[in-house]
Amino acid sequence: MARRRLSQQQKRRIQAAQQAHSASDEHARGLVVSHQGKQVVVELDQGDTVECKIKSNLGTIVCGDRVSIETAASEYRLAAVLERDNLLQRVDGFGHVRPVAANISQLVVCLAWSPEPNLFLLDQYLLSAEQQDIDACILINKADLADERRDPFGIERIYRPLDYRVLPTSVKSGEGMREFADLLRDRVSVLSGVSGVGKSSLTAWLLPGEEIKVANISAANEEGRHTTRASRLYHLPNGGALIDTPGVRGFSPFVDDSVALDSGFREIRELAAQCRFHNCLHRDEPDCAVTAAAAAERIAPSRYQSYLKLLGQAKSG
Ligand code: GDP
Ligand code: ZN
Repeated sequence: MARRRLSQQQKRRIQAAQQAHSASDEHARGLVVSHQGKQVVVELDQGDTVECKIKSNLGTIVCGDRVSIETAASEYRLAAVLERDNLLQRVDGFGHVRPVAANISQLVVCLAWSPEPNLFLLDQYLLSAEQQDIDACILINKADLADERRDPFGIERIYRPLDYRVLPTSVKSGEGMREFADLLRDRVSVLSGVSGVGKSSLTAWLLPGEEIKVANISAANEEGRHTTRASRLYHLPNGGALIDTPGVRGFSPFVDDSVALDSGFREIRELAAQCRFHNCLHRDEPDCAVTAAAAAERIAPSRYQSYLKLLGQAKSG
């Protein structure tokens, strides 16, 4: 925990230094549209797309980063990363926090009729987005596989009242696909979700000219160490962009437990002001508005369980 907080602090310091640097220079600016190892491709504000070398000690660079560029001897060098609006992060198989993409306006959490949705993972994605001030919405893909049951996983019932957009889609039948395209218009989005829900298929549908591999990759592969495919920012035909990080599409979202978890659960955040203690953890404190609401099921049991589980993990972590 202490180590993680320190590294966050260090990152902020690096960013502040870079910002001070970039504010004073006359460098060209641009957007990172592709990133793999030491290779970074930047779309300059003037329009050219150039490959850049990275100066050392710049810290993390990800797709969606705004950067300033130096030119020297016909070489482009990435000089600084400008201040980020947000940084979406994941936790890798070894428990290390890794960046996914920066300056995102929307996280699209992709669920499907099959494989069956995991609500705990969904809540972690939503919390992670909430903590970074990123809008989130939920797709329920493979709507063509729907049977006569109405909302069997409770996604619409639980999440619509919380003001999350829930959209059934089917790449196969075309249901909801126009709304899906509209949802992405003029925003910078990342598609997330476990393997097999249809993220590659949705991405290929959005970007018909691009080569997007659609396959049933195993979860082990998705988190694999040896994934080397570049992360890329694609401009969408109707405006907006999609950042695709193929190796980590099924990423485990990073939940920052150094800040109060309840603020990332919309319904809990709203009730927390009515608890007797301002630092109430909503677990077993007296006069807790949240436990009262949970007992009366005014908070969905699965949501409250997700909250308690994350709280337990934060305590023991
Ligand atoms: P990813 O692992 O999330 O990227 O999922 P893929 O796009 O590779 O899709 C996994 C499997 O689901 C493939 O066999 C796709 O053909 C299939 N699939 C994707 N979208 C749909 C859909 O809307 N309906 C149905 N029935 N199958 C789909
Ligand atoms: Zn409380």
